[in-house]
Amino acid sequence: MKTLVLGNGGREHALLAALSRDPQVGELHAAPGNAGMAALAALHAVEATDPDAVVALARELAADLVVVGPEAPLAAGVSDALREAGFAVFGPSRAAAQLEASKAFAKEVMAAAGVPTAGSRICATAEEAAAALDEFGAPHVVKDDGLAAGKGVVVTSDRAEALAHAQACFDAGGTVVIEDFLDGPEVSLFVLCDGTDAVALTPAQDFKRIHDGDAGPNTGGMGAYTPLPWLPEGFTEEVMDRVARPVLAEMARRGTPFTGVLFCGLAVTAKGVEVIEFNVRFGDPETQAVLARLTTPLGGLLADAAAGRLGADRALEWSDDVAVDVVMASAGYPATSSKGDVITGLADAEALEGVHVIHAGTATSGDDVVTAGGRVLAVVGRGADLAQARERAYAGVERIRFDGAQWRTDIGLKAERGEIAVPAAVGQA
Ligand code: AMP
Repeated sequence: MKTLVLGNGGREHALLAALSRDPQVGELHAAPGNAGMAALAALHAVEATDPDAVVALARELAADLVVVGPEAPLAAGVSDALREAGFAVFGPSRAAAQLEASKAFAKEVMAAAGVPTAGSRICATAEEAAAALDEFGAPHVVKDDGLAAGKGVVVTSDRAEALAHAQACFDAGGTVVIEDFLDGPEVSLFVLCDGTDAVALTPAQDFKRIHDGDAGPNTGGMGAYTPLPWLPEGFTEEVMDRVARPVLAEMARRGTPFTGVLFCGLAVTAKGVEVIEFNVRFGDPETQAVLARLTTPLGGLLADAAAGRLGADRALEWSDDVAVDVVMASAGYPATSSKGDVITGLADAEALEGVHVIHAGTATSGDDVVTAGGRVLAVVGRGADLAQARERAYAGVERIRFDGAQWRTDIGLKAERGEIAVPAAVGQA
Protein backbone atom coordinates (compact mmCIF):
# COMPACT_ATOMS: atom_id res chain seq x y z
CA MET A 1 0.00 0.00 0.00
CA LYS A 2 1.66 3.22 -1.21
CA THR A 3 0.81 5.84 1.40
CA LEU A 4 1.12 9.62 1.24
CA VAL A 5 0.94 11.67 4.44
CA LEU A 6 0.23 15.42 4.16
CA GLY A 7 1.76 17.78 6.71
CA ASN A 8 5.05 18.66 8.35
CA GLY A 9 4.48 18.52 12.11
CA GLY A 10 5.08 16.15 14.98
CA ARG A 11 1.71 14.53 14.39
CA GLU A 12 2.67 13.58 10.84
CA HIS A 13 6.07 12.24 11.91
CA ALA A 14 4.30 10.10 14.53
CA LEU A 15 1.82 8.89 11.88
CA LEU A 16 4.70 7.92 9.57
CA ALA A 17 6.48 6.11 12.41
CA ALA A 18 3.35 4.04 13.10
CA LEU A 19 2.65 3.47 9.39
CA SER A 20 6.22 2.25 8.88
CA ARG A 21 5.55 -0.54 11.41
CA ASP A 22 2.60 -1.83 9.32
CA PRO A 23 3.75 -4.67 7.04
CA GLN A 24 0.91 -3.81 4.63
CA VAL A 25 2.39 -0.37 4.01
CA GLY A 26 4.95 -0.36 1.23
CA GLU A 27 6.28 2.97 0.04
CA LEU A 28 5.85 5.94 2.35
CA HIS A 29 5.69 9.50 1.04
CA ALA A 30 5.15 12.83 2.76
CA ALA A 31 4.46 16.37 1.59
CA PRO A 32 6.06 18.64 2.56
CA GLY A 33 7.50 16.75 5.59
CA ASN A 34 10.29 17.74 7.97
CA ALA A 35 13.88 16.76 8.75
CA GLY A 36 12.89 13.80 10.96
CA MET A 37 10.40 12.40 8.45
CA ALA A 38 13.07 12.09 5.76
CA ALA A 39 14.34 8.93 7.47
CA LEU A 40 10.97 7.21 6.99
CA ALA A 41 9.47 8.63 3.81
CA ALA A 42 10.29 10.23 0.49
CA LEU A 43 9.60 13.95 0.91
CA HIS A 44 7.90 16.04 -1.78
CA ALA A 45 8.04 19.84 -1.82
CA VAL A 46 4.31 20.25 -2.37
CA GLU A 47 2.10 22.68 -0.46
CA ALA A 48 -0.34 20.48 1.51
CA THR A 49 -3.07 23.14 1.28
CA ASP A 50 -3.03 23.28 -2.54
CA PRO A 51 -5.68 20.80 -3.79
CA ASP A 52 -4.45 20.72 -7.41
CA ALA A 53 -0.82 20.20 -6.43
CA VAL A 54 -1.72 17.45 -3.96
CA VAL A 55 -3.90 15.62 -6.52
CA ALA A 56 -1.07 15.86 -9.07
CA LEU A 57 1.36 14.36 -6.56
CA ALA A 58 -1.05 11.56 -5.61
CA ARG A 59 -1.41 10.76 -9.34
CA GLU A 60 2.32 10.80 -9.92
CA LEU A 61 2.85 8.41 -7.00
CA ALA A 62 -0.25 6.31 -7.76
CA ALA A 63 -0.98 6.55 -4.02
CA ASP A 64 -3.25 3.85 -2.57
CA LEU A 65 -4.01 5.94 0.51
CA VAL A 66 -3.65 9.63 1.36
CA VAL A 67 -3.66 10.62 5.04
CA VAL A 68 -4.35 14.30 5.66
CA GLY A 69 -2.59 15.38 8.87
CA PRO A 70 -3.39 19.04 9.67
CA GLU A 71 -6.62 21.01 9.67
CA ALA A 72 -5.65 23.62 7.07
CA PRO A 73 -5.68 21.26 4.02
CA LEU A 74 -9.02 19.84 5.19
CA ALA A 75 -10.53 23.32 5.44
CA ALA A 76 -9.05 24.06 1.99
CA GLY A 77 -10.94 21.12 0.46
CA VAL A 78 -7.91 18.93 -0.26
CA SER A 79 -9.67 15.72 0.78
CA ASP A 80 -12.64 16.56 -1.51
CA ALA A 81 -10.33 17.11 -4.48
CA LEU A 82 -8.54 13.81 -3.81
CA ARG A 83 -11.81 11.89 -3.48
CA GLU A 84 -13.16 13.40 -6.69
CA ALA A 85 -9.97 12.23 -8.40
CA GLY A 86 -10.65 8.71 -7.14
CA PHE A 87 -8.15 8.41 -4.27
CA ALA A 88 -8.78 6.73 -0.92
CA VAL A 89 -8.47 9.53 1.65
CA PHE A 90 -8.30 9.47 5.40
CA GLY A 91 -9.62 12.91 6.36
CA PRO A 92 -13.03 14.60 6.30
CA SER A 93 -14.55 16.63 3.48
CA ARG A 94 -14.43 20.41 3.72
CA ALA A 95 -18.09 20.38 4.76
CA ALA A 96 -17.50 17.86 7.57
CA ALA A 97 -14.32 19.69 8.62
CA GLN A 98 -16.54 22.61 9.64
CA LEU A 99 -16.83 20.79 12.98
CA GLU A 100 -13.41 22.27 13.70
CA ALA A 101 -13.22 25.24 11.33
CA SER A 102 -16.29 26.87 12.90
CA LYS A 103 -16.93 26.59 16.60
CA ALA A 104 -20.43 27.97 16.00
CA PHE A 105 -21.16 25.13 13.54
CA ALA A 106 -19.88 22.57 16.06
CA LYS A 107 -22.23 23.98 18.71
CA GLU A 108 -25.15 23.75 16.28
CA VAL A 109 -24.38 20.09 15.48
CA MET A 110 -23.99 19.25 19.16
CA ALA A 111 -27.34 20.87 19.96
CA ALA A 112 -29.03 18.88 17.18
CA ALA A 113 -27.38 15.63 18.30
CA GLY A 114 -28.07 16.17 22.01
CA VAL A 115 -24.36 16.16 22.91
CA PRO A 116 -23.44 17.66 26.31
CA THR A 117 -21.35 20.85 25.97
CA ALA A 118 -20.93 24.27 27.60
CA GLY A 119 -23.74 26.79 27.15
CA SER A 120 -22.60 29.46 24.68
CA ARG A 121 -23.41 32.63 22.76
CA ILE A 122 -22.11 33.66 19.35
CA CYS A 123 -21.16 37.34 19.46
CA ALA A 124 -20.38 39.77 16.65
CA THR A 125 -20.10 43.07 18.56
CA ALA A 126 -18.49 44.40 21.74
CA GLU A 127 -21.96 44.95 23.25
CA GLU A 128 -22.97 41.34 22.64
CA ALA A 129 -19.65 40.13 24.05
CA ALA A 130 -20.04 42.21 27.20
CA ALA A 131 -23.55 40.85 27.76
CA ALA A 132 -22.40 37.24 27.24
CA LEU A 133 -19.48 37.68 29.67
CA ASP A 134 -21.93 38.88 32.30
CA GLU A 135 -24.36 36.05 31.56
CA PHE A 136 -21.79 33.28 32.06
CA GLY A 137 -19.60 35.00 34.68
CA ALA A 138 -15.93 34.30 35.45
CA PRO A 139 -13.75 32.49 34.56
CA HIS A 140 -14.44 33.80 31.06
CA VAL A 141 -14.00 31.66 27.94
CA VAL A 142 -13.72 33.59 24.65
CA LYS A 143 -13.07 31.70 21.41
CA ASP A 144 -12.23 32.99 17.96
CA ASP A 145 -14.89 31.31 15.77
CA GLY A 146 -12.39 30.37 13.03
CA LEU A 147 -9.24 28.24 12.82
CA ALA A 148 -6.44 29.58 15.01
CA ALA A 149 -4.00 26.66 15.45
CA GLY A 150 -5.16 26.10 19.02
CA LYS A 151 -4.33 29.67 19.98
CA GLY A 152 -7.66 31.43 19.44
CA VAL A 153 -9.05 30.67 22.89
CA VAL A 154 -8.62 32.89 25.93
CA VAL A 155 -9.62 31.59 29.35
CA THR A 156 -9.26 34.30 31.96
CA SER A 157 -10.85 35.75 35.08
CA ASP A 158 -9.86 39.21 33.84
CA ARG A 159 -12.93 40.71 32.15
CA ALA A 160 -10.88 43.38 30.36
CA GLU A 161 -8.60 40.70 28.86
CA ALA A 162 -11.65 38.70 27.73
CA LEU A 163 -13.16 41.79 26.08
CA ALA A 164 -9.85 42.69 24.45
CA HIS A 165 -9.57 39.22 22.87
CA ALA A 166 -13.13 39.48 21.55
CA GLN A 167 -12.37 42.93 20.12
CA ALA A 168 -9.20 41.63 18.43
CA CYS A 169 -11.30 38.92 16.71
CA PHE A 170 -13.94 41.48 15.65
CA ASP A 171 -11.20 43.80 14.32
CA ALA A 172 -9.92 40.89 12.20
CA GLY A 173 -13.41 40.56 10.71
CA GLY A 174 -14.45 37.53 12.77
CA THR A 175 -16.98 36.56 15.43
CA VAL A 176 -16.45 34.91 18.80
CA VAL A 177 -18.08 32.18 20.84
CA ILE A 178 -18.35 33.04 24.54
CA GLU A 179 -19.22 30.14 26.80
CA ASP A 180 -19.53 28.68 30.25
CA PHE A 181 -16.32 27.60 31.94
CA LEU A 182 -16.11 23.80 32.20
CA ASP A 183 -14.45 22.85 35.47
CA GLY A 184 -12.64 19.50 35.53
CA PRO A 185 -9.75 17.51 34.08
CA GLU A 186 -9.46 17.45 30.29
CA VAL A 187 -9.29 14.36 28.10
CA SER A 188 -8.49 14.05 24.39
CA LEU A 189 -10.17 11.12 22.70
CA PHE A 190 -9.42 10.35 19.04
CA VAL A 191 -12.26 8.50 17.34
CA LEU A 192 -11.54 6.98 13.91
CA CYS A 193 -14.67 7.28 11.75
CA ASP A 194 -15.62 5.76 8.40
CA GLY A 195 -18.76 7.85 7.80
CA THR A 196 -20.99 5.39 9.64
CA ASP A 197 -18.97 3.41 12.19
CA ALA A 198 -16.31 4.47 14.63
CA VAL A 199 -13.61 3.12 16.90
CA ALA A 200 -11.91 5.03 19.71
CA LEU A 201 -8.18 5.17 20.34
CA THR A 202 -6.85 5.29 23.89
CA PRO A 203 -7.67 8.48 25.85
CA ALA A 204 -4.81 10.94 26.40
CA GLN A 205 -4.23 14.19 28.21
CA ASP A 206 -2.32 17.14 26.84
CA PHE A 207 -0.86 20.26 28.42
CA LYS A 208 -1.86 23.47 26.66
CA ARG A 209 -0.09 26.16 28.64
CA ILE A 210 3.54 27.04 28.04
CA HIS A 211 4.75 26.88 31.67
CA ASP A 212 4.70 24.34 34.50
CA GLY A 213 1.60 24.35 36.67
CA ASP A 214 -0.55 25.39 33.69
CA ALA A 215 0.78 28.95 33.81
CA GLY A 216 1.30 31.33 30.88
CA PRO A 217 -0.43 31.53 27.51
CA ASN A 218 -2.02 28.64 25.59
CA THR A 219 0.13 26.87 22.99
CA GLY A 220 -0.51 24.17 20.41
CA GLY A 221 0.33 21.73 23.26
CA MET A 222 3.51 21.11 25.28
CA GLY A 223 3.24 17.39 26.04
CA ALA A 224 0.89 14.47 26.61
CA TYR A 225 0.57 11.06 28.21
CA THR A 226 -1.58 7.98 27.81
CA PRO A 227 -3.33 5.95 29.18
CA LEU A 228 -5.01 7.97 31.94
CA PRO A 229 -4.92 5.91 35.14
CA TRP A 230 -7.50 8.13 36.82
CA LEU A 231 -10.28 7.54 34.25
CA PRO A 232 -13.12 5.14 35.16
CA GLU A 233 -13.34 2.03 32.99
CA GLY A 234 -16.59 2.91 31.22
CA PHE A 235 -15.36 6.34 30.12
CA THR A 236 -14.57 5.67 26.48
CA GLU A 237 -17.82 3.76 25.86
CA GLU A 238 -19.75 6.60 27.48
CA VAL A 239 -18.12 9.13 25.14
CA MET A 240 -18.82 6.89 22.13
CA ASP A 241 -22.50 6.60 23.11
CA ARG A 242 -23.13 10.19 24.18
CA VAL A 243 -20.81 12.11 21.86
CA ALA A 244 -19.14 10.37 18.92
CA ARG A 245 -21.94 8.17 17.56
CA PRO A 246 -24.63 10.90 17.87
CA VAL A 247 -22.36 13.37 16.02
CA LEU A 248 -21.59 10.81 13.30
CA ALA A 249 -25.30 10.14 12.86
CA GLU A 250 -26.10 13.86 12.73
CA MET A 251 -23.36 14.52 10.15
CA ALA A 252 -24.62 11.64 7.99
CA ARG A 253 -28.20 12.91 8.32
CA ARG A 254 -27.06 16.30 6.98
CA GLY A 255 -25.54 14.60 3.94
CA THR A 256 -21.98 15.36 5.08
CA PRO A 257 -20.79 12.04 6.57
CA PHE A 258 -17.62 12.23 8.63
CA THR A 259 -14.58 10.18 7.57
CA GLY A 260 -11.37 10.71 9.50
CA VAL A 261 -10.50 11.46 13.12
CA LEU A 262 -13.19 13.03 15.25
CA PHE A 263 -11.00 14.41 18.02
CA CYS A 264 -13.21 14.92 21.06
CA GLY A 265 -11.78 17.50 23.47
CA LEU A 266 -13.61 16.72 26.69
CA ALA A 267 -13.91 18.02 30.23
CA VAL A 268 -14.80 15.63 33.04
CA THR A 269 -17.03 17.86 35.17
CA ALA A 270 -19.29 17.33 38.18
CA LYS A 271 -22.19 17.20 35.68
CA GLY A 272 -20.51 14.44 33.67
CA VAL A 273 -18.52 14.44 30.43
CA GLU A 274 -18.89 17.62 28.36
CA VAL A 275 -17.41 18.54 25.01
CA ILE A 276 -14.97 21.46 25.02
CA GLU A 277 -14.44 21.29 21.28
CA PHE A 278 -14.05 19.04 18.27
CA ASN A 279 -11.09 18.82 15.98
CA VAL A 280 -11.20 16.90 12.74
CA ARG A 281 -7.66 15.47 12.73
CA PHE A 282 -5.22 13.82 15.09
CA GLY A 283 -4.10 16.06 17.95
CA ASP A 284 -0.54 17.17 18.38
CA PRO A 285 1.14 16.27 20.85
CA GLU A 286 -1.28 13.49 21.94
CA THR A 287 -0.70 11.50 18.72
CA GLN A 288 2.98 11.05 19.56
CA ALA A 289 2.02 9.24 22.81
CA VAL A 290 -1.12 7.45 21.57
CA LEU A 291 0.44 5.91 18.46
CA ALA A 292 3.50 4.83 20.47
CA ARG A 293 1.17 2.35 22.21
CA LEU A 294 -0.92 1.19 19.22
CA THR A 295 0.00 -2.34 18.14
CA THR A 296 -2.82 -2.78 15.59
CA PRO A 297 -1.29 -1.94 12.18
CA LEU A 298 -2.23 1.68 11.45
CA GLY A 299 -2.22 1.61 7.65
CA GLY A 300 -4.89 -1.07 7.37
CA LEU A 301 -6.99 0.75 9.94
CA LEU A 302 -6.86 4.11 8.15
CA ALA A 303 -7.46 2.44 4.77
CA ASP A 304 -10.55 0.69 6.16
CA ALA A 305 -11.84 3.97 7.58
CA ALA A 306 -11.24 5.70 4.23
CA ALA A 307 -13.14 2.93 2.43
CA GLY A 308 -16.10 2.92 4.85
CA ARG A 309 -15.38 -0.57 6.15
CA LEU A 310 -14.31 -0.10 9.79
CA GLY A 311 -17.35 -2.05 10.98
CA ALA A 312 -19.32 -1.57 14.18
CA ASP A 313 -17.22 -3.86 16.42
CA ARG A 314 -13.68 -3.05 15.43
CA ALA A 315 -11.28 -3.88 18.27
CA LEU A 316 -7.80 -2.39 18.61
CA GLU A 317 -4.72 -3.68 20.39
CA TRP A 318 -2.45 -1.66 22.64
CA SER A 319 0.86 -2.29 24.31
CA ASP A 320 0.82 -2.30 28.12
CA ASP A 321 3.35 0.53 28.11
CA VAL A 322 2.60 4.00 29.33
CA ALA A 323 3.76 6.71 26.91
CA VAL A 324 4.70 10.29 27.75
CA ASP A 325 5.86 12.91 25.28
CA VAL A 326 7.51 16.19 26.17
CA VAL A 327 7.58 18.99 23.59
CA MET A 328 10.71 21.11 23.27
CA ALA A 329 9.89 24.54 21.84
CA SER A 330 12.12 27.26 20.44
CA ALA A 331 12.87 30.63 22.05
CA GLY A 332 9.94 33.02 22.06
CA TYR A 333 7.20 30.40 21.59
CA PRO A 334 4.20 30.77 21.59
CA ALA A 335 4.32 34.50 20.73
CA THR A 336 7.14 34.03 18.19
CA SER A 337 9.62 31.31 17.30
CA SER A 338 13.30 31.04 16.55
CA LYS A 339 14.76 29.49 13.40
CA GLY A 340 18.21 28.13 12.61
CA ASP A 341 19.38 27.16 16.13
CA VAL A 342 21.52 24.01 15.87
CA ILE A 343 20.05 20.97 17.68
CA THR A 344 22.50 18.51 19.26
CA GLY A 345 22.08 15.25 21.15
CA LEU A 346 19.30 13.71 19.03
CA ALA A 347 21.16 10.42 18.53
CA ASP A 348 22.14 10.28 22.21
CA ALA A 349 18.50 10.67 23.22
CA GLU A 350 17.32 7.99 20.78
CA ALA A 351 19.97 5.57 22.05
CA LEU A 352 18.25 5.51 25.46
CA GLU A 353 15.96 2.57 26.19
CA GLY A 354 12.27 3.33 25.59
CA VAL A 355 12.97 6.75 24.03
CA HIS A 356 12.33 8.09 20.56
CA VAL A 357 12.22 11.58 19.12
CA ILE A 358 9.46 12.95 16.94
CA HIS A 359 10.34 16.01 14.86
CA ALA A 360 8.05 19.00 14.31
CA GLY A 361 9.71 22.35 13.50
CA THR A 362 13.09 21.02 12.37
CA ALA A 363 15.08 21.45 9.16
CA THR A 364 18.49 20.41 7.91
CA SER A 365 21.24 22.92 7.29
CA GLY A 366 24.35 21.27 5.89
CA ASP A 367 25.07 18.41 8.29
CA ASP A 368 23.09 20.00 11.13
CA VAL A 369 19.52 19.64 12.23
CA VAL A 370 18.25 23.11 13.15
CA THR A 371 15.10 24.64 14.62
CA ALA A 372 12.50 25.75 12.09
CA GLY A 373 9.39 26.57 14.10
CA GLY A 374 7.76 27.05 17.49
CA ARG A 375 7.33 23.48 18.61
CA VAL A 376 10.59 21.89 17.53
CA LEU A 377 10.31 18.25 18.59
CA ALA A 378 8.77 15.88 21.10
CA VAL A 379 10.68 13.32 23.13
CA VAL A 380 8.59 10.21 23.71
CA GLY A 381 9.30 7.93 26.68
CA ARG A 382 7.72 4.52 27.04
CA GLY A 383 7.78 2.57 30.29
CA ALA A 384 5.99 0.11 32.52
CA ASP A 385 4.28 2.92 34.43
CA LEU A 386 3.98 6.70 34.35
CA ALA A 387 7.00 7.19 36.59
CA GLN A 388 9.25 5.18 34.28
CA ALA A 389 7.82 6.68 31.08
CA ARG A 390 8.33 10.19 32.48
CA GLU A 391 11.81 9.41 33.66
CA ARG A 392 12.76 8.11 30.21
CA ALA A 393 11.19 11.04 28.33
CA TYR A 394 13.00 13.57 30.54
CA ALA A 395 16.28 11.65 30.28
CA GLY A 396 15.90 12.11 26.51
CA VAL A 397 15.12 15.82 26.91
CA GLU A 398 18.27 16.28 29.00
CA ARG A 399 20.38 14.93 26.13
CA ILE A 400 19.00 17.41 23.56
CA ARG A 401 20.27 20.97 23.36
CA PHE A 402 19.48 24.07 21.31
CA ASP A 403 19.65 27.76 22.17
CA GLY A 404 16.56 29.00 23.96
CA ALA A 405 14.93 25.55 24.27
CA GLN A 406 11.87 25.55 26.52
CA TRP A 407 9.92 22.60 27.88
CA ARG A 408 7.60 21.80 30.75
CA THR A 409 8.91 19.62 33.56
CA ASP A 410 5.49 18.48 34.82
CA ILE A 411 3.98 16.48 31.92
CA GLY A 412 2.00 13.65 33.55
CA LEU A 413 3.25 14.57 37.01
CA LYS A 414 -0.13 15.08 38.70
CA ALA A 415 -1.36 11.76 37.33
CA GLU A 416 1.80 10.03 38.54
CA ARG A 417 1.18 11.46 42.00
CA GLY A 418 -2.49 10.41 41.95
CA GLU A 419 -3.61 14.05 42.19
CA ILE A 420 -6.37 13.89 39.55
CA ALA A 421 -9.83 12.88 40.64
CA VAL A 422 -13.03 12.45 38.62
CA PRO A 423 -16.60 12.76 39.84
CA ALA A 424 -18.33 9.41 40.54
CA ALA A 425 -21.00 10.20 37.91
CA VAL A 426 -18.62 9.62 35.01
CA GLY A 427 -18.19 6.25 33.34
CA GLN A 428 -21.20 4.68 35.07
CA ALA A 429 -23.73 5.21 32.27
P1 AMP B 1 -10.12 24.75 22.30
O1 AMP B 1 -9.30 25.35 21.19
O2 AMP B 1 -11.58 24.99 22.20
O3 AMP B 1 -9.67 23.36 22.64
O4 AMP B 1 -9.64 25.48 23.62
C1 AMP B 1 -8.30 25.47 24.02
C2 AMP B 1 -8.23 25.22 25.49
O5 AMP B 1 -8.95 26.22 26.20
C3 AMP B 1 -8.88 23.91 25.93
O6 AMP B 1 -8.02 22.81 25.80
C4 AMP B 1 -9.20 24.23 27.36
O7 AMP B 1 -8.05 24.09 28.18
C5 AMP B 1 -9.59 25.66 27.32
N1 AMP B 1 -11.05 25.78 27.19
C6 AMP B 1 -11.76 25.90 26.05
N2 AMP B 1 -13.08 25.98 26.31
C7 AMP B 1 -13.22 25.88 27.64
C8 AMP B 1 -14.34 25.90 28.54
N3 AMP B 1 -15.59 26.06 28.11
N4 AMP B 1 -14.11 25.76 29.85
C9 AMP B 1 -12.84 25.62 30.32
N5 AMP B 1 -11.74 25.62 29.53
C10 AMP B 1 -11.91 25.76 28.22
